[in-house]
Amino acid sequence: MIQIKKTPATPEIIAVLEKQKRLKVGNCKQEIILNQLVEDAHEKCYLCENKGLVGGEIEHFIPHKEDKELKFDWMNLLWACKHCNTLKGTMINLLNPLNDDIENMIDHHLTSLAKDNNPKVEIKALVNDEKVLITVDLLNKIYTGTTFSNKFSAKTLRDLLMLEVGYFTSYINKFETSSNEQVKDAAAKMIVQMLQDDTPFAGFKRQIIKDRPRLREKFFYN
Ligand SMILES: [Zn+2]
Repeated sequence: MIQIKKTPATPEIIAVLEKQKRLKVGNCKQEIILNQLVEDAHEKCYLCENKGLVGGEIEHFIPHKEDKELKFDWMNLLWACKHCNTLKGTMINLLNPLNDDIENMIDHHLTSLAKDNNPKVEIKALVNDEKVLITVDLLNKIYTGTTFSNKFSAKTLRDLLMLEVGYFTSYINKFETSSNEQVKDAAAKMIVQMLQDDTPFAGFKRQIIKDRPRLREKFFYN
């Protein structure tokens, strides 16, 4: 999970939301809303950071419970996958990806990489704060699963995460071990590219850089 920059509501977005709010059974799922949400999210679920979601959904950060102000509040709308949206449910008191410096409050670790085919994800709190702890607990559930059926979707998520991190670490290895300057430079460019906000699982990849002092010095994106 990383911080997200959300485009302020345009007059067109405000008009569409106001119109839906006035209807007896209005709905946020309007083209202009969906397009902007997906664009701001870089097609990623704001919770798990999986990209190119097939079943993306509008997620109300503060559950609206049919409160129209919350239901049609642009700043309350985020883009999430079904797996995460279902696990979050009506939870409140989470870190807000629009306001909170999430990566300085939580660590994203993927362990057992290359040792077996079932990597373990460990999200850890860096700060002893209620919102941080609640968010960490939710994220660990997202990557691990809590029920018979959502453990399958969590496993699929971890497989995608392992694929992306494996790809990323192959460039790190090239960068660290190659004696050919051209190969090293090309690897460095790929590493920079793969650390950007619009790439899948950026939080995990940045963590790898943060944890290794030499790489941190070279690539730290902040
Ligand atoms: Zn998700």
